[in-house]
Amino acid sequence: MSLPASTAELRALDAAHHLHPFSDMKSLNAEGSRIIVKAEGVWLTDSDGNRILDGMSGLWCVNVGYGRQEIVDAVAQQMTELPYYNTFFKTTHKPAIELAAKLAELTPPQFNRVFFTGSGSESNDTVIKLVRRYFQIKEKPEKKIIISRRNAYHGSTVAAGSLGGMAPMHGQSAPIPDILHIAQPYWWGEARQGETPEEFGLRAAQALEAAIDAMGEDRIAAFIAEPIQGAGGVIIPPATYWPEIARICRERDILFISDEVICGFGRTGKWFGCETFGTEPDILVMAKGITSGYMPLGGVMVADRVAEVLLEGGDFNHGYTYSGHPAACAAAIANLDIMVREDLVGHVANDAGPYLKAGWSALADHPLVGEAPMTGLVGALELTPDKTGRTSFADVGKVGTLARDFSFKNGLVMRAVRDRLIIAPPLVISHGEIDELVARARRTLDDTYAELKRWGWVR
Ligand SMILES: *Cc1c(COP(=O)(O)O)cnc(C)c1O
Repeated sequence: MSLPASTAELRALDAAHHLHPFSDMKSLNAEGSRIIVKAEGVWLTDSDGNRILDGMSGLWCVNVGYGRQEIVDAVAQQMTELPYYNTFFKTTHKPAIELAAKLAELTPPQFNRVFFTGSGSESNDTVIKLVRRYFQIKEKPEKKIIISRRNAYHGSTVAAGSLGGMAPMHGQSAPIPDILHIAQPYWWGEARQGETPEEFGLRAAQALEAAIDAMGEDRIAAFIAEPIQGAGGVIIPPATYWPEIARICRERDILFISDEVICGFGRTGKWFGCETFGTEPDILVMAKGITSGYMPLGGVMVADRVAEVLLEGGDFNHGYTYSGHPAACAAAIANLDIMVREDLVGHVANDAGPYLKAGWSALADHPLVGEAPMTGLVGALELTPDKTGRTSFADVGKVGTLARDFSFKNGLVMRAVRDRLIIAPPLVISHGEIDELVARARRTLDDTYAELKRWGWVR
């Protein structure tokens, strides 16, 4: 079969045969998918030849940017030499050995061991079994409840979707037992009238303490959280939140799991989000930026104090055919080499991050924008009908989608979560590209505002 050339024919073929993730296929098929044909640096090209600035790094993953021949070459060479072998039955291979050692070096000092997976969802499924196994070995099998947060995203398999706190997902597939969801640290959306971000951050953190005490510490295994909630709308917690969570985790006998699938590998201006926020996780979950998306790979880092127990527990009955896939490990090694050589973490912390934050924060003066937070290279714009009152539009999600569509027309990929626009551009973005990103975001706000005026939704 030869593929048709025209965008319209490609769209028709896609509509006929391809079920997309998280999509309303009937309306998508009517509208037609955008077809991306190539990419370089931070720029995508679609099948009509439009160049679009990728403000989302694909799906939060292309940290080193597109078109890195060095990663392509590393994968090709590995595929030639050893395209696949498993790591189940007393075997291993060089790419898995090298990557595991490299990750031990790059992660905080308590981490020296990794369990490889194929994705973030598989990593979080692994985490559930791993923390329960840990307490079984410690002869506390009743400690199996994992506390998570509403509006968290930890993946979309049955178990990872259960860990996550996405109500629309739970509506279609009920969460598995023994997972408890507490409040999220979303000041704009959930603080009381008059409550400062600092007060609210403390209150949100103390929900963890209250939940542990209500259920009984002897039943709680772990708390899992993203340093910054990504898919939930780039929720950057108030400054008081993480220190208070760290205190509670220290005082209680529970494991703390940092889901670093988005925040890991430089996104927040340090190698890992837990370093930006000063927490000390026992388990660190990775995927996405570990390969910059060039190959699918995930991993779970286990702190020494946890690993020492697991090592005494005999077989851990869990694993994936592609755990430590050699070509995926080769992509990760080449990707991490680039990150180290080009000091991309330093670039985010000292150059691109502050430069984007300056331009982005200035968007807060726009009449549609309620807040414009940013940490490292991840940020959000909360759209509101009334800047002063932290109010929301009546039909939540409609304005966000409208703005997202304008953004695409203006040559910028931003994503909409409810009525919040979010960005997480490749870490290699230049000053000129940041200027372009901010200008296109402002144009998008202006276009959205003008349309809302026509609708009579704003004054
Ligand atoms: C994307 C994501 C996941 C799931 O990763 P997949 O590779 O899509 O399975 C898990 N946790 C967080 C924080 C994510 O952003």
